[in-house]
Amino acid sequence: MNTSSLPRIAVLATGGTIAGQAGDASKTAGYKAGVVGVDKLLDAVPALASVASIHAEQVASIDSKDMSLALWSALAARVETLLKQDDIDGVVITHGTDTLEETAYFLHLTVKSEKPVVLTAAMRPSTALSADGPLNLLNAVTVAASKNAAGQGVLVAFNNQIHSARDVTKTSTYAVDAFRSPEVGVLGFVQDGRVEFQRSVTKPHTTASEFAIAEKWPSVEIVASYADASRVMVDALVAAGVKGIVVAGTGNGSMHANITQALSDAVKQGVSVVRASRVGSGHVMHNGAASDDALGTISAGTLNPYKARVLLLLALAANKKDLQRVFDTY
Ligand code: ASP
Repeated sequence: MNTSSLPRIAVLATGGTIAGQAGDASKTAGYKAGVVGVDKLLDAVPALASVASIHAEQVASIDSKDMSLALWSALAARVETLLKQDDIDGVVITHGTDTLEETAYFLHLTVKSEKPVVLTAAMRPSTALSADGPLNLLNAVTVAASKNAAGQGVLVAFNNQIHSARDVTKTSTYAVDAFRSPEVGVLGFVQDGRVEFQRSVTKPHTTASEFAIAEKWPSVEIVASYADASRVMVDALVAAGVKGIVVAGTGNGSMHANITQALSDAVKQGVSVVRASRVGSGHVMHNGAASDDALGTISAGTLNPYKARVLLLLALAANKKDLQRVFDTY
């Protein structure tokens, strides 16, 4: 049992710019991500001591552009083990911003716990003037320590906002307010110790999710459609034996005729194909810009291509046959 009167929060560090280091405090772009250890990140935030009692672990030290399925699986397993302990009330994961939305969605669908799981990150390295990591970390721990965060699925606390893992996406290469939840908006806010939720997540996640970490992952890749796109990429992926392809279509998941033909051929060879959009917001409607029923494709709804890939990976690993139901549900 946790004997402190404060909530006990596990902080799992994976690297990223929040743990980045530059030779000079004026540098916010030229730095090395994932080099500063979790103890140092925590030391930079003395105010944590009045919010939670912290258990810290260094799970990885990577630039999140190099995130892998093996690390996702290990991270999900570790989070679940910690949350099963009576003396842990919530988990915070420090992560790079580049693939944060993919990791968050993966955990949202695989971690079986009602306890809060909150990811955070930073756009400026820890050594920068006005580094954003320390306040983001304090806010993430504050959210994880809040009873209101329980049962909301995996959350992202960033720049005083609380986002759902399902909806959040990185929208800027440099701005400190880089994360947005297009169309649906934030779940709430965290500021000066106050956590306020203004809406909750309705789609199933965590304990209500039918997905789990797999022993073996299918190969699922993403291709884009654009002016003058050829079928070369799709044909190469099919020849390489991929099990799933997500297409980042133009507009409402529309595709160049060459890509459409190549994907139709891929479906006939048993490849599962999901139509998403490269636009960054909005729905991809079933039988909208392309006839999914005629092509045998699945429409991604509001999932962006990277999140659609996460869901397709999980669904194929679980041997789901009703993929459109899966995409309509999650
Ligand atoms: N490349 C970094 C990463 O994702 C970027 C960041 O964290 O902002 O690890």
